[in-house]
Amino acid sequence: DLRRVTRALISVSDKTGLIEFARALSQRNIELISTGGTRKAIADAGIPVRDVADVTGFPEMMDGRVKTLHPKVHGGLLAIRENPEHEAAMLAHGIAPIDLLIVNLYPFEATVAKNASYDDCIENIDIGGPAMIRGAAKNHNDVAVVVDVADYALVLDTLAKQDGATDLELRKRLAQKAYARTAAYDAAISNWFAAEIGEDTPDYRAIGGVLAEKMRYGENPHQSAGFYRTPEKRFGVSTARQLQGKTLSYNNVNDTDAAFECVAEFDPARTAAVAIIKHANPCGVAEGASLREAYEKALRCDPVSAFGGIVALNRKLDAEAAREIVKIFTEVIIAPEADDEAIALIAAKKNLRLLVTGGLPDPRAKSLTLRTVSGGLLVQGRDNAVVDDMELRVVTKRTPTPGELVDLKFAFRICKHVKSNAIVYVKDGATVGIGAGQMSRVDSSRIAAWKAAEAAKAAGLSASFAKGSVVASDAFFPFADGLLAAAEAGATAVIQPGGSMRDDEVIKAADEAGLAMVMTGHRHFRH
Ligand code: 5GP
Repeated sequence: DLRRVTRALISVSDKTGLIEFARALSQRNIELISTGGTRKAIADAGIPVRDVADVTGFPEMMDGRVKTLHPKVHGGLLAIRENPEHEAAMLAHGIAPIDLLIVNLYPFEATVAKNASYDDCIENIDIGGPAMIRGAAKNHNDVAVVVDVADYALVLDTLAKQDGATDLELRKRLAQKAYARTAAYDAAISNWFAAEIGEDTPDYRAIGGVLAEKMRYGENPHQSAGFYRTPEKRFGVSTARQLQGKTLSYNNVNDTDAAFECVAEFDPARTAAVAIIKHANPCGVAEGASLREAYEKALRCDPVSAFGGIVALNRKLDAEAAREIVKIFTEVIIAPEADDEAIALIAAKKNLRLLVTGGLPDPRAKSLTLRTVSGGLLVQGRDNAVVDDMELRVVTKRTPTPGELVDLKFAFRICKHVKSNAIVYVKDGATVGIGAGQMSRVDSSRIAAWKAAEAAKAAGLSASFAKGSVVASDAFFPFADGLLAAAEAGATAVIQPGGSMRDDEVIKAADEAGLAMVMTGHRHFRH
């Protein structure tokens, strides 16, 4: 399966490493053919090279839109060697085989990134390049195709070891990479068009993720993992600058994202807020007059679980808050910004990761969430419903007091970020008990109430934190039992979507227990 390389076509926009590579090929007596700019660069270095116009008999034309699109080029790339008909066609039409193709494409992505004009972006859609890449990759049995400057060394090594020939294994590997490149390139173009025509989400068929970082492992050490950036522009882990600490693991990124999305529900112009997250679930969220106050309130909810957690802040991290946060073991801190004094304080904890994102994500933004199922992808719009936009309906005899109403909205806002079944107790702008991820709603209710009692005990109080609190449920109570568990724990008001067949029964139970209850008409499942 060795194929000797006698002729190479080089057409590259990124000319990094070009001269060294071309010289090495030329020294192996490989004939070089090139397009305008590439040919000039090679020739200027004193390396023999043929103009592709010379091969095709046509000049490059139409602003370079047509350079290599010619049977003399594509025939040379696509002809099956040792196939009598293909050989006869080559002979009849004067087509010479091309054994090695080196192409990198017009810099479409970079052109878009620098906010170039519409026409500029269009002109940077490479046509001939991808056509050649796809042709050579299809014919990998005979032709090697290089699309990445990083592979120049590998190709030279192979040629040196194999007396100027490539092997099938290498050609297959290069073909795989070639199609990955053309796929990503077309995805970038489609996503740019989507933005141009005012689509606010990328087309899921062309997510076009770009590998930002390969991770040591995934959720567990025996799983591989990587972090891919999509074209979407939202502040968050994808825009984060890591100021210090160990590299982020897969679980860190996942949990940090959950933390920042949760804290972003709080408008920094209105209040300071902090979310502490463990295993993608909040174990304490609070707002306060300062970040420090918010952090202390959030920590009180579940100080045991907060150990080794992720702390997300909705405002610029200041020294006062940083001093509190470093008191217990924390994996990651994420904030829109951090001031110098806070950064200096955190520097004392070498492993602690500090991320600044440059801004907060908009909780109302439309976007997509993806999840794999065996043999497929599940795609949905992200949950961008915000309780402040919902029409709240009081369904009980008692109307919530203004204070209760503020906490009810707070609780429902947090529910959205808690795995179902989610039950969240809130008092005075802080969660005081969270029940997450249970298979029955009444179990989540009981766990949340139990945690509220435990947290109060840990704080040296005899009465449970749930006493005088309000409670939110991410979906309707199918029976009165979950609601009654909350009332028993001491909650005085309830917020839930409503919509159960037994709503009447649940409302009656709330009235009998003296609870005030509001329905949102929106559910926040998170499975
Ligand atoms: P050069 O700098 O050599 O003038 O141009 C190199 C670039 O042209 C490469 O990025 C290559 O992919 C691209 N290219 C090669 N052939 C064609 C073609 O026929 N049409 C277009 N639009 N681009 C081409």
